[in-house]
Amino acid sequence: MHELSIALSIVETAEEEVRNAGGRQVEEIVLEIGDLAGVEQDALDFAWKEAVKETVLEQAKCVIENKAGKARCLNCQYEFALTYIYDICPSCSDFRKELMQGKEIKIKSITII
Ligand SMILES: [Zn+2]
Repeated sequence: MHELSIALSIVETAEEEVRNAGGRQVEEIVLEIGDLAGVEQDALDFAWKEAVKETVLEQAKCVIENKAGKARCLNCQYEFALTYIYDICPSCSDFRKELMQGKEIKIKSITII
């Protein structure tokens, strides 16, 4: 399951951060997840509960910030919101584009106590 491996890798990073900071556990973690990252929110919630057991994240409050998809057309340079990865440029209908935002899965901030 895609979401479980995401959750496990976040746990791994958090464990490392807490170790480096000499803390005990994470109070709050903020994740940034792009709308085009292919993450199912429900599946992630479910995986999260399993993955954080007996880790520094077990008591942590998890905040998820969604990032809307955004792309720049490679033909006319127009920047537009992307709902689906295959959307075409609304200005010139070209399908070639550079994804600027929306595929990220990352830890935005982590509060260690
Ligand atoms: Zn265009």
